[in-house]
Amino acid sequence: CGIVGILGTHEVAPLLVESLKRLEYRGYDSAGIATINDGHLDRRRAVGKLVNLSDLLVHEPLAGKAGIGHTRWATHGVPSIRNAHPHSAGRVSVVHNGIIENFRELREWLAGRGLSHESDTDTETVAMLANHFLSEGASPEDAVELTLARLHGAYALLFLFEGEEDLMIAARKGSPLAIGHGDGEMFVGSDAIALAPMTSRITYLEESDRAVVTRSGARIMDSGGRLANRPVKTIHIDA
Ligand code: GLU
Repeated sequence: CGIVGILGTHEVAPLLVESLKRLEYRGYDSAGIATINDGHLDRRRAVGKLVNLSDLLVHEPLAGKAGIGHTRWATHGVPSIRNAHPHSAGRVSVVHNGIIENFRELREWLAGRGLSHESDTDTETVAMLANHFLSEGASPEDAVELTLARLHGAYALLFLFEGEEDLMIAARKGSPLAIGHGDGEMFVGSDAIALAPMTSRITYLEESDRAVVTRSGARIMDSGGRLANRPVKTIHIDA
């Protein structure tokens, strides 16, 4: 029910958890984060309160200066570690708010290619589709585009890729997403409140926008793939 992402200059795991805390007001049943470290994706997930995730991170820390995080409000699949986000498939890790309505038919399509799911969620299907297109040779950006073209439903999505320490790709359809601008750092969040301690410079994605985010900025496109000029606003929220 909440999404955060950071391309940072310091270790991001504590910052991701801190940002997720600021989204607690939306309600959630489980939480998780994924980071990229030395090019490799890794993740930690826990059911229940964020303190369970923090405790897990004390025992099994997650290094890395880029990462994504999620608080889940289960719609497909019971609340469990296995169903908690981020969902990973091969070179992709993804967090999602919303519902992918045609996920059953996409699951079957993937199963027909010998690809089986680990979870009961609609979200894992998104990760598997993106990874499928990557394995066919698509760039991360094209893989996301090919994936989005197959999805019906509502989503805020944020992708992280193996081997890509300076890249997050976000997409919005029916669920809000905000991009935060830092100094040599960039952020993504469900809302500006999540990002308030890190930046007050916010760009809201509009319906059907996608954003290719690197530490030097965000390139935002509309659903037709045209470059979209979205304003950077200064938002004042007590951090
Ligand atoms: N439909 C997804 C799930 O059940 C995302 C739920 C959410 O918005 O947190 O895992």
